[in-house]
Amino acid sequence: MDDVLVVGAGPVGLTAACQLARLGVSVRVVDKLDRPTTESRAVTVHARSMEMLAPLGALPRMLARGRRVDGLAMVDGATGHTRARIDFGEVPSRYAFLLDIAQPDSEAVLAERADELGIVVERGVELIALTQDDDGVEVTLRSDDGERTTRVGWVVGADGGHSTTRHLVGTHLEGGFHGQHFAMADVETETALSPDTIRMFTHPDGVGMLFPLAGARARTIFLVDAPPAGATAPTLEEIQALADARMGGQVRMRDPLWLTYFEVHHAQVPQYRHGRVLLAGDAAHIHSPAGAQGMNTGIQDAANLAWKLALVARHGADARLLDTYHDERHPVGAEVVRTTTALTNVGTAAGVGAVLRDAALFVVGHTPAVGDAAAAKTAEVTIAYRDGRLAVHHGHHRHGTARAGDHAPDPDGLRRPDGSAVTIADLLVRPGLLLLARSDDTDTVDALHRVLGDLGTVVRVVRAASADGGEQVVDDGDVIGRHYGLGDEGLALVRPDGYLGLVADAADPELLRRYLADSLGVPEPVAP
Ligand SMILES: Cc1cc2nc3c(=O)[nH]c(=O)nc-3n(C[C@H](O)[C@H](O)[C@H](O)COP(=O)(O)OP(=O)(O)OC[C@H]3O[C@@H](n4cnc5c(N)ncnc54)[C@H](O)[C@@H]3O)c2cc1C
Repeated sequence: MDDVLVVGAGPVGLTAACQLARLGVSVRVVDKLDRPTTESRAVTVHARSMEMLAPLGALPRMLARGRRVDGLAMVDGATGHTRARIDFGEVPSRYAFLLDIAQPDSEAVLAERADELGIVVERGVELIALTQDDDGVEVTLRSDDGERTTRVGWVVGADGGHSTTRHLVGTHLEGGFHGQHFAMADVETETALSPDTIRMFTHPDGVGMLFPLAGARARTIFLVDAPPAGATAPTLEEIQALADARMGGQVRMRDPLWLTYFEVHHAQVPQYRHGRVLLAGDAAHIHSPAGAQGMNTGIQDAANLAWKLALVARHGADARLLDTYHDERHPVGAEVVRTTTALTNVGTAAGVGAVLRDAALFVVGHTPAVGDAAAAKTAEVTIAYRDGRLAVHHGHHRHGTARAGDHAPDPDGLRRPDGSAVTIADLLVRPGLLLLARSDDTDTVDALHRVLGDLGTVVRVVRAASADGGEQVVDDGDVIGRHYGLGDEGLALVRPDGYLGLVADAADPELLRRYLADSLGVPEPVAP
């Protein structure tokens, strides 16, 4: 019996599958489509998602296929005048930019990684039924060969906005079903507008968005009235007319690869976990493309879920750990639904609303701190789980340093004993938990190794390389002290999704043991 069935080989299902496989879980992936989609759909990858795609080994290939974008501008669609520009250069991340890449390219890279990790994506295979009991899930899959019923341990429902999994567990999306309609096109553009910026054009008739892709290609999106009954796609001429009216006459378009109408709702399921079935990505939340948060939120759902599911499926952790997937990610999804709805409405405001919006944009555009805060929020690097039950901060918290529940800071200044530079992102490439330990006592470090066992890696943070005590990183500039608040003694446990679980001002193996047992619910780990 496979540990996990992932339903859907979109970006979310593939991210979950890759991470599960890296963590030693046997995973099966099915998708009802015979071939991957060719529709460009979600085109922007944000910093926090890049941080999570990097350890999977997917990011360099995505960067090679996409376009690096440095800013997001709000432009008056009638005049072409830029109201505000948010620069992503100060986003606190190794990836202080946006990556624009068509969804088929992202999916192709993730599928390649999945293949390298030994995952066979079974295409033309559709989930049509499931029932679950205490020990597993019975799923019925339909393909050209007929229907087959099989058992798996767990199911990840990453089957998109029309999720069958969601339906089969008896839940539904709740929220604003005042559908908004968008006309979309993936086109070659002729424009003097620089391709280093995503532009959102405000206009009383509806927002327009322009996402530069590789070469001269771009994605355009326009909020429109409900299209005539039966119309599935606008013509290129209609898209051009929208661009002429709402993009200050600055963009010519030709050679469409994809034209479509797209109706969006703003909604979310009330529960992400249904026993042994977990919903992720569009199956759990749908909303406007404004702010380009949809796929990103889903990728981060997958990263949050996969390591927890691996602990439960492979290491016998208490299944209640999976409740923290809902606890941590549901509020994030709810916030995304709220803000993307607001962003779409703001772009369309008229009258007093437009005056207020323009005043706010003036502040954003002319106050660097406000602009940086807006960039950080858009890049999703402000997401943290400080109040969750997996965030345990032991002892004194030094002001200005990371807390348990924050994403692990990744400062420059760390070296390997041979003098080469190393980053926290590099250390996270190894699957499992990452324990940064500050202690001069080799017995303590040995004990930490024993307690962590096969759940991950202990890396000792030392001021100068020494011959004893296992793997070390050298921190002669005290960057770990400044960013993590660790003094001569301390622990920082980084989860596989890059967030800090336990932060302690003592390198006490008992603190680690208690965290693993009580917070993660893992029985005594075995030796690595
Ligand atoms: C037309 C369109 C335009 C979009 N534009 C944007 C945009 O501009 N910006 C943005 O951020 N987001 C956009 N999105 C949303 C974005 O594509 C999604 O947020 C993202 O794809 C979510 O990924 P996912 O893996 O959760 O779902 P999906 O990408 O939808 O993948 C789900 C997969 O599950 C498969 N599946 C479904 N049911 C079953 C079943 N029963 N059995 C087996 N397999 C099944 C499907 O074939 C599909 O491959 C757009 C979506 C659409 C449809």
